[in-house]
Amino acid sequence: MLFALLFLFYNSPAQQSMVGFTQESANAERNAEEKFDSYLKASNLDSWMKRLAGRPHHLGSAYGKDNAEYMRDLFKSWGYDSKIETYKVLFPTPKVRIVELVAPGKFKAKLAEPALKEDATSNQLKEQLPTYNAWSADGDVTGELVFVNYGVPDDYEQLERLGIDVKGKIVIAKYGGSWRGIKPKVAQEHGAIGCLIYSDPQGDGYFQGDVYPKGPYRSEHGAQRGAVMDLPVRPGDPITPGIGATEDAKRIDRKDADNLLKIPVHPISYADAEPLLRALSGPVAPANWRGALPITYHVGPGPAKVHLKLEFDWRLVDCHNVIAVMKGSELPDEWVVRGNHHDAWVNGANDPVSGMVALMEEARAVGELTKTGWKPKRTLVYCGWDGEEPALIGSTEWVEHHAAELQQKVVAYINSDASGRGFLYAGGSHTLEPLMDEISREVIDPQTGISVFQRSRALEVVSASNPKDKKAALEKSGLKLDALGSGSDYSPFFQHLGIPSLNLGYGGEDNGGEYHSIYDSYDHYVRFKDPRFEYGIALVKTAGRATLRLANADVLPFDFHAFHKTVAGYLDEVMLSLENMREATEVENRIIENKAYTYAADPTIKFVVPASKEAVPYLDFSALQNAMSKLQSSSTRFIELSHANPKPNTNLNLLNKVLYQAEQKLMVQGGLPRRPWYRHTIYSPGYYTGYGVKTLPGIREAIEQRNWKEAQEQIEIVAKAISDYTQEVEAATKILMMR
Ligand SMILES: [Zn+2]
Repeated sequence: MLFALLFLFYNSPAQQSMVGFTQESANAERNAEEKFDSYLKASNLDSWMKRLAGRPHHLGSAYGKDNAEYMRDLFKSWGYDSKIETYKVLFPTPKVRIVELVAPGKFKAKLAEPALKEDATSNQLKEQLPTYNAWSADGDVTGELVFVNYGVPDDYEQLERLGIDVKGKIVIAKYGGSWRGIKPKVAQEHGAIGCLIYSDPQGDGYFQGDVYPKGPYRSEHGAQRGAVMDLPVRPGDPITPGIGATEDAKRIDRKDADNLLKIPVHPISYADAEPLLRALSGPVAPANWRGALPITYHVGPGPAKVHLKLEFDWRLVDCHNVIAVMKGSELPDEWVVRGNHHDAWVNGANDPVSGMVALMEEARAVGELTKTGWKPKRTLVYCGWDGEEPALIGSTEWVEHHAAELQQKVVAYINSDASGRGFLYAGGSHTLEPLMDEISREVIDPQTGISVFQRSRALEVVSASNPKDKKAALEKSGLKLDALGSGSDYSPFFQHLGIPSLNLGYGGEDNGGEYHSIYDSYDHYVRFKDPRFEYGIALVKTAGRATLRLANADVLPFDFHAFHKTVAGYLDEVMLSLENMREATEVENRIIENKAYTYAADPTIKFVVPASKEAVPYLDFSALQNAMSKLQSSSTRFIELSHANPKPNTNLNLLNKVLYQAEQKLMVQGGLPRRPWYRHTIYSPGYYTGYGVKTLPGIREAIEQRNWKEAQEQIEIVAKAISDYTQEVEAATKILMMR
């Protein structure tokens, strides 16, 4: 279909322009958004949260199914074609949980969070999942204990200096410093036979503020549930890799899943951890390892000896995704997908219900809009994912099941999750940065009356650590999107399929220690998170605008120039890190040669001098530098042409399809080294950081692992992906020039 092309990408703000809209359609869009805003009611968020978080609703639970049906029916009442898509997925729940100190002395960990009279839902013991780490192995092990700080690779280098080996031992790591699943993975790689993860009060307990119920922080018996699958390898149902876990899907043996642990792991509270840590001797822990318990932290090993016995019920359960569709009036085969998960570890008022109710209010207001005769041009798909907490299961299975169709049709995926009071956080594909910049200047911060953009910039200025960074923040012209790692449902869309994605929320003034405990409740939320649901409404306005603008734009607001600028920054960073590594290695090797470590060490304390390292070679980045330079000129030309006097009769359908599918060219067919499921060459979760992002992951991680051959190969692979992507930019440019 041919449209008269009268749009400008960036016209003057005085005209109230909108990225990707003609003046006329921008006016219509603003009109619709004003109405949309006028429909929003904070009281809806409040009452839906009370309902959805009213009982525990983890994957496979009766109340989770009930919630899914409740939401499906609401979407239906708002005018959506709404259904539940169910998958059959593996989900282990605990049968036996024993953590005890067997020497010196005896202590049996309680492994229980007590009900509180100040928290109305905390007493639903029968329906609560107990504290546990999902995807721990079954196991019955006894061994000496070693304290490993956060349990990340750097900590094991420190242990080596101390001459301590964890082989055959049980390690105890504190929460923080990485995503939790990294801790048992690294422990297992070092030969440990079991792993405990505890919440040190320094992290989210009394060191931070008053504990619940007086304040929001984690109390002595609070423990953090959570998954410990190797998510940086692959999320989703572990026994249906790469395919949707439908009833009749072909399943592999659990023992053959490449992302499951072989050792038992359990999370404990600080009340349960203290006697264990207190019973350790051996060297005093390095200064930056110590927490806030009233003890001297020792590393061990032993004499503390721990018995850890865990057994799980490895069952297939139903995973209920709610999918609600509103068909586009002009472009029904172009979809904007908006999602949030609905399952929780327990009641989950904050995680995930705070984001889910904002999504629901957004969908309801869109439904109201349609009663005025307004229709979205593109199809809207609102999703409530199940099984996010164990491993992004609902979204991953749905994406794997419908992959081909989604890659054809989905223009963008917009995610939210837990959200509270404070500042806008926005991450995603950097082609969408100008869109989010524009939106962040229009949404008003409920507490201060300034835009959410101004507010988040003020925070950045104030919290920058030195005058130079403060100055840079003051002078910053636009919103910067964060790069996405993992930890919520955008991963399958973004990193597996290459669908442009956003992750949006508010926070920073809603800190607490309720995460993944029975105290993440309605009562906690309305006291400490977003008491009047005004930031919930700000999220509805923010995500709602992103959804509606992507659904209605004449020309989809993808900006390759913004993408180029950001990726060029990543490349500089990677090249600089190689230089720094070269210098650090040279200096380190000289220190070793000069025996400085030996002479500086206290001779009464065991110290192992590190081995010298192979010198860092020079890598050839030219292929990637050339590809980036081509992308720069091509994206500039595209922008210039779209600015220029527009030609009538541009084939917008053709143009838009090229624009939204371009990101798929950044996918590498075989995936990243050792984890083929992750295919995005620019963004991925870190192999050793978990949720934390690694940009240009193939190159960056090969360098970090000192795998020079692989680093060089990855440079060529990324260069090829950038070149393929640039060809799409050029194809879009050709369409602009066509008569
Ligand atoms: Zn969540």
